[in-house]
Amino acid sequence: MSGDSTTARLSRCRNCGFEAPGGGEEWLRLEVPKLGRMTQCPNCESTDVITHR
Ligand SMILES: [Zn+2]
Repeated sequence: MSGDSTTARLSRCRNCGFEAPGGGEEWLRLEVPKLGRMTQCPNCESTDVITHR
């Protein structure tokens, strides 16, 4: 099914529990040469971030 374009997927920091919409401005972005872009938690600077559907 489709039509959920406005539904934001939440990303969550597994380290501190911070949550914000995935790809949102709340998150910091790191560019790692070998891994590409990573999402970094602005609260604890962890990159252990998972995205919920
Ligand atoms: Zn965090």
